[in-house]
Amino acid sequence: GNYSRKEILQLVEEEDVEFIRLQFTDMFGVIKNIAVTSRELPRVLDNRCRVDWTLITGECMENEAEMFLYPDLDTFAILPWRPQQGKVARFLCDLYCADGTPYKNSSRYILKQNLEKAGEEGYTFFADPECEFFLFHTDDNGIPTTVSHEQAGYLDVSPLDLGENARRDMVLTLEDMGVEVESSHHEKAPAQHEIDFRYGEAGRIADCVMTFKMAVRTVARRHGLHATFMPKPRSEFNGSGMHLKFSLVKDGQNIFECKETPGKISDAAFYFAGGLLAHSREMALITNPLVNSYKRLVPGYGAPTELTWTDSDQKSLVRIPFFRGQESMVELRSPDAAANPYLVLAVCLAAGMDGIRKRLVPLKAGETENPDCLPETLKEAIDIFENSSWIREILGEDFCRIYVESKKKEWLRYTRQVTDWEVEEYLYRL
Ligand code: GLN
Ligand code: MG
Ligand code: MG
Ligand code: MG
Repeated sequence: GNYSRKEILQLVEEEDVEFIRLQFTDMFGVIKNIAVTSRELPRVLDNRCRVDWTLITGECMENEAEMFLYPDLDTFAILPWRPQQGKVARFLCDLYCADGTPYKNSSRYILKQNLEKAGEEGYTFFADPECEFFLFHTDDNGIPTTVSHEQAGYLDVSPLDLGENARRDMVLTLEDMGVEVESSHHEKAPAQHEIDFRYGEAGRIADCVMTFKMAVRTVARRHGLHATFMPKPRSEFNGSGMHLKFSLVKDGQNIFECKETPGKISDAAFYFAGGLLAHSREMALITNPLVNSYKRLVPGYGAPTELTWTDSDQKSLVRIPFFRGQESMVELRSPDAAANPYLVLAVCLAAGMDGIRKRLVPLKAGETENPDCLPETLKEAIDIFENSSWIREILGEDFCRIYVESKKKEWLRYTRQVTDWEVEEYLYRL
């Protein structure tokens, strides 16, 4: 690990840290925290801080009424946007039940379990996310809108790109917090931006995505803007995705690299892609968890719909970019940044490993007239998820039941709405 207990005590003292935030991610990928004063640090390090869990999930077992927060010392970071005297630091925490057992519905725990399983077979899973988001204006009351007067497009520069300064601050803040950024740019839609991570071990990357979302929102706010990871905030523009590139390492070697032919990927990489495609419909409720997610996954807006692979086709779910040696990767283009990154990485790893095990060959774009497609609505995704025993095996029976129940309620709330579209479409004519 990065830090021992002693080093943490020392750091908090030397850095003049006044507050410590104990953070964790809920089932739906929302970051939560409780703050304690640094005087309480020994209690924090003894895993004795806890939160009321009955308010976090709708239901919990008897020994789950309170959840104990076990700080992961390696995730210690000072929040750069808080005062520099009397600083604020945070830990990401694991969740433990009152009886001292890990909380099995915690998404961080679910990912860890899946990484360990692959680890037993000698694999280390690497991931490399590209996160897209919009920077919108807030109105006079400070309420976020979907409006921006920015007109910039793909890779545009200042003065067209009005988010340039905010983006620079975001990148510096992220680097400060230990999130390694590879590049950033203006995306295709007005006010749309992208920040690309440097690849890393998947467990750490999931933590980084959570840190990323918190930092981006906070920095945007300091620039008077609202950052949103909502998958499709404006129907007439591209939505925001979270493309994920993957590789698998065994015995220090990236097994996606084709040893024989440079510039090509290995059979294992192809089978991994085959697994992603084969399970993508079952995983959709995890990779694309919102009603709104499915409004992004439509033809014509740079988002994927077909269960095929490609090196260039925008419709395809999997892209296999040109490869160079150890950097050989397979990209999944369906996930959006509203998803819980722990769960997304858990299901992607399991899907890819299943592909390798069963030697699933991915379908190439253009090879069939009518390839299978992703679910078109949240409802369809729920139905497929509910009927998948594979997904229950990866995420756990209990987890899936609670998750689906909540997603069904979300769908019901949505379908009960009378939307502006309906009023415009029907009111006048009928
Ligand atoms: N914004 C597109 C999406 O929704 C991706 C565009 C791109 O980076 N190629 O996935
Ligand atoms: Mg992009
Ligand atoms: Mg990258
Ligand atoms: Mg990409």
